[in-house]
Amino acid sequence: MLSRDTEAESKLLEVLRDNFARNERTGVHLTSLLEPRMSYWKATIPMPPTDAEVGFFSAGRGHEDAVQKLLGTDFKETEESEVFGIHLRPDFEAISDRVIPSGEYAEFKTRRSNLPKTDVEANAVMMTYRDQLRGYMALKGRNRMWLIVLSLVEGKDRKDPLSQSRPVFAVYREEMTEDERIEMLVLLMQMNDKLKAAFVNGDPFHLPLCTKWKCVRSVKVGSTWVKVPVCKWYNNCKPGDIEEDRRC
Ligand code: SF4
Repeated sequence: MLSRDTEAESKLLEVLRDNFARNERTGVHLTSLLEPRMSYWKATIPMPPTDAEVGFFSAGRGHEDAVQKLLGTDFKETEESEVFGIHLRPDFEAISDRVIPSGEYAEFKTRRSNLPKTDVEANAVMMTYRDQLRGYMALKGRNRMWLIVLSLVEGKDRKDPLSQSRPVFAVYREEMTEDERIEMLVLLMQMNDKLKAAFVNGDPFHLPLCTKWKCVRSVKVGSTWVKVPVCKWYNNCKPGDIEEDRRC
């Protein structure tokens, strides 16, 4: 007989939580500069990953590791490097020409569903991914880089009971001009200075807010939509003081 062992589940989550916390990186990373407010709070008021975060991290990391193993003759993991005091590590470097040109970088992401239908939509809704790629490109002096997205349950249409979901890979190429790279580099270096100043002054309130969906979400209670905090540091950060539609 199979029975769910909730005690072992709790222990598993705690071990994963511990290990994720132990793997926290040191130094200023590119991703810290893309969400400087959250980076500030993470460093000054550390909070353990929630159960949901442990699940998402494990799923993302597990797929990345599996894909890297399956593509072991075509991609290798990159080493972390530091450019202008900013640490970075794109996920993969191509070592064959079978998928993307050898020597080029690729970043791997998983998402649950909702791949954009067009490139125009992709440019808008994948802005968070794009910012990360464009940061790598600016720091590494590259004019192109690839994004590999594994969307896990693509294709299910609630209105069509016969539709079925399946995992779908989507590969995108991001390109930048030299002027765009210089502009991005300047922005990153300025943000690095601002983040350092926030730590020195103990004042994060001049740092830009994160993407809105990381702050608050709307839930329907009866017939009314209300906003609820998503971020663990919502009460410290008070984003509603800056933007009305982030107020809960
Ligand atoms: S409350 Fe919003 S702006 Fe502040 S750290 Fe969290 S996500 Fe970022």
